[in-house]
Amino acid sequence: MINKLCIIGVGLIGGSLARALRAAKVAGTIVGHGRDPAQLQRALDLGVIDRAERLLADAVRDADMVVLAVPVGAMAEVLRELAPRLDARATVTDVGSVKGAVVAAARHALGARFSVFVPGHPLAGTEKSGVEASFARLFDGKRVVLTPEPDTDPGAVQRVTDMWRATGAEVLTMTAAHHDEALAAISHLPHMLAYTLVDTLLRLDDRDTMFALAASSFRDVTRVAASDPGMWHDICLTNRAALVKMLKHYRGQLDELLAAIESGDGRYLRELFERAKQQRDTLPEPDRGRSVD
Ligand code: NAP
Repeated sequence: MINKLCIIGVGLIGGSLARALRAAKVAGTIVGHGRDPAQLQRALDLGVIDRAERLLADAVRDADMVVLAVPVGAMAEVLRELAPRLDARATVTDVGSVKGAVVAAARHALGARFSVFVPGHPLAGTEKSGVEASFARLFDGKRVVLTPEPDTDPGAVQRVTDMWRATGAEVLTMTAAHHDEALAAISHLPHMLAYTLVDTLLRLDDRDTMFALAASSFRDVTRVAASDPGMWHDICLTNRAALVKMLKHYRGQLDELLAAIESGDGRYLRELFERAKQQRDTLPEPDRGRSVD
C-alpha cells in the first residue's frame, strides 16, 4: 500500500499509472505535478489525481512513492530539484524509455540517497501523449523492466515491483546497459525506420500521389511515426551509442538487400523473406500482449 503517491508528469504514462493504481486500490492520495496548470486541471477533472501541486516541494512532501514520468530529457533537471525535497521514507522511480542516462542523472543528483532510486521502464505505450490518452489497463499483461544498480536498496526494488504488479504488469530485472541495447533494437530502431520512411516519401516530387495511394501496409509500418517528436528527440540523444550501433547494423543489411535486388539474387530474397515471415508469425497478438510501442 502506498500512502501518498506523487506523479511528476501526469501524461500518458504517469496518468495511466495513477489510474491503474487507483483501480487496484493500492494508493491512498495521488498527487500530480507538472508545468502546465491547464494539464493538471484536466488530470483533476478526469479523476486521475486527487490533488494538483504547482510546486514540486509541495507535491513530494510526505510522499512515500515518487514516480518521475517526464520526458527523458527533463529527468536530470527534475531530479536536481527533487533531491533536497525528498521525504526520508520516500522511494523514487522513473518510467523513462532510456535507462543509462537516467541512472547517471539520478546518481549525480541524489548523491548519498541514490539507493532509494529504482530505475524502471514499462514496455507499454501508444503513439498518443497527454493525460487524455491515459487509461488504467495500459500496463495489464505488459512487461516492466527495472534496472537496479548494485547499490540500489532491495527494499525499494520490492516496493516498486509491488507497485507495478498491482497494475497487472510482469516485472523483469536487467542491467541498464542491457536494457538500452535491447530497446535500441526492438523499439528505437523501428521508430527511426517509421519516421524516415514517411520522410523519404515526403521528399519525392510526386509525394501527393504517393500519400493519396498509401494504404494499409504503409499505415501499419509507419504507425509509430505519429509518436511525440519531442520524446523521440530525447530518446535518440540519450541512447545514442546503442542506437548508432543498431542503425549501422541495419544499414549493412539494407546494403545486402539492395545488392541482391540489383543482381537479381532471388535465392537471397526468398531466404530472407521466409526467415523473417517465420519469426514474425510467432509474435503474439498485441492485445494478448507483449508489444512495445
Ligand atoms: P507525455 O504524455 O507527454 O507526458 C509527459 C508529462 O511530463 C506531461 O504531463 C508534461 O506536462 C510533464 N513534464 C514535461 N516536462 C516536465 C518538467 N520539466 N517538469 C515536470 N513535468 C514535466 O509523455 P509520456 O508518453 O507519458 O512519456 C513520459 C515518459 O514515459 C518519458 O520518459 C517516456 O520516455 C516514457 N515512456 C513513454 C512511452 C510511450 O509510449 N509514450 C512508453 C514507455 C515509457 P507539462 O508539459 O504540463 O509539464
